[in-house]
Amino acid sequence: MAARCSIAFMIMASCLSVLVSGGLPGDLFALSVASKLRVDRNSTARASSDFGRIVAAAPEAVLHPATPADIAELVRFSASSPSPFPVAPRGQGHSARGQSLAPGGVVVDMRALASRRGRVNVSAGAAPYVDAGGEQLWADVLRATLEHGLAPRVWTDYLRITVAGTLSNAGIGGQAFRHGPQIANVLELDVITGTGDMVTCSRDKDSDLFFAVLGGLGQFGIITRARIGLMPAPKRVRWVRLAYSDVATFTKDQELLISKRASEAGFDYVEGQVQLNRTLTEGPKSTPFFSSSDIGRLAGLASKSVSGVIYVIEGAMYYNESTSTTMDQKLESILGQLSFEEGFVFTKDVRYVQFLDRVREEERVLRSIGMWDVPHPWLNLFVPRSRILDFDAGVFKGVFAGANPVGVILMYPMNTNMWDDRMMAVASDDDVFYAVGLLRSAAVIGDVERLEKENEAVLAFCNNEDIECKQYLPHYASQDGWQRHFGAKWSRVADLKAKYDPHRILSPGQRIFSSPASMVVASM
Ligand code: FAD
Repeated sequence: MAARCSIAFMIMASCLSVLVSGGLPGDLFALSVASKLRVDRNSTARASSDFGRIVAAAPEAVLHPATPADIAELVRFSASSPSPFPVAPRGQGHSARGQSLAPGGVVVDMRALASRRGRVNVSAGAAPYVDAGGEQLWADVLRATLEHGLAPRVWTDYLRITVAGTLSNAGIGGQAFRHGPQIANVLELDVITGTGDMVTCSRDKDSDLFFAVLGGLGQFGIITRARIGLMPAPKRVRWVRLAYSDVATFTKDQELLISKRASEAGFDYVEGQVQLNRTLTEGPKSTPFFSSSDIGRLAGLASKSVSGVIYVIEGAMYYNESTSTTMDQKLESILGQLSFEEGFVFTKDVRYVQFLDRVREEERVLRSIGMWDVPHPWLNLFVPRSRILDFDAGVFKGVFAGANPVGVILMYPMNTNMWDDRMMAVASDDDVFYAVGLLRSAAVIGDVERLEKENEAVLAFCNNEDIECKQYLPHYASQDGWQRHFGAKWSRVADLKAKYDPHRILSPGQRIFSSPASMVVASM
């Protein structure tokens, strides 16, 4: 890995500090947090790339904080230094494009806080909530809340990512159509701003910081605690997959499902997948979804479709043992309203935890065959409902025609009115939009370049056809791109950055603002 850092501040004539460790001011090591800073190559190498494995850049040091106050001390020191250096909080480093890196600066290993006791606290009153450290894994939040028969309402598909890492983006999944993204379910935050101030904020208190940080890509503050609303946790889940060969029928049914209110019979979770010529598999051995004869029938359905593309709605209904009979009737009534291919309904009955933690099983399988730690040139887009059929024709049946990707392609709709526009996450102007996740892995040498070219072709297609696609987990090479991404929110982004992180210290890996140590990252 050839990581290079351009450390502009090293040569500033006005610099009063003695610079050590390749660029950090020497008096940093006189602070009380100094004993928690690691500068050895093992530590910095571990913090120099991410899940994407597309870019790499080493920090000068890694902070393993024991308390949020340690982080505040580090940030305050940088902000007040004549030569401020970048600071990037890192959750699990599951970003895909180097967003959690801090070349020339300090990565804060947020997971170090998880070893402290009492970082997840459940309040089980009339309006229950959990106070979770920003460094906590969603899997651990689930475990703690279930002890009280409670759970957060909205989940990402994968639970080994951190609370603050997803809140910095939005946190989407199959429950978001009903409850909004995870950020819409946050009641209060503890934040360390780019000046090192520790602020508790909410919709009513320091609300500009609260709204800025939610979906704020780590630009305005470091989240050390989030208060998240809870609901009674169901015990079991009826998990359903429905196959379609026609995209218009697939999207019509998805949109019907997300139009249902909680009081009506409907699914509690709605997602969907696009299967391009790919060989279907039964899924992990311990939780197979399809039998081998199902696979044969699905392959037959794909071969009958002109494009070879089939679509699968994934739905889930929550229930408790006592309501299992009503649940069967409800499911039957919902299925009666849908137009999937006759006979192509597949169901499974699982525990709630097994359903939420389903990707863990896939992770184990991928790890066992060496396909987890490979490059992930992922592209996630929000596509307006009004153009989703054009997108399907141009991308799945155009750019990807004949492709046989390794990975998953997700496609599911959400209701825009469940997103709070005061938050920094960018949704769509249509009342409904689709999350399209092109979650492809580079299996062999040369795949990264090929997949990146296809990603570019997808973006060019949207651009040429005037499809207002917004990137989710966004990545842009220029500030123009960022300005277009944020649109009307851009001036607020710039103003709040100047207010809460005036030295542009925080999360430089997003590459929205030029950071004190201008970034040069290397391709891996
Ligand atoms: P990191 O990658 O470590 O950090 C991400 C960004 O947040 C960085 O800019 C970092 O500086 C900043 N950050 C980290 N901690 C803090 C903090 N405490 N305060 C402020 N900023 C912080 N996302 C979804 O929405 N839905 C999904 O279903 C989903 N599924 C996924 C499945 C897999 C297998 C993977 C790898 C990712 C998935 N994601 C999903 C994406 C996920 O939300 C991002 O990877 C996100 O970056 C969270 O990862 P992390 O906790 O490791 O954060």
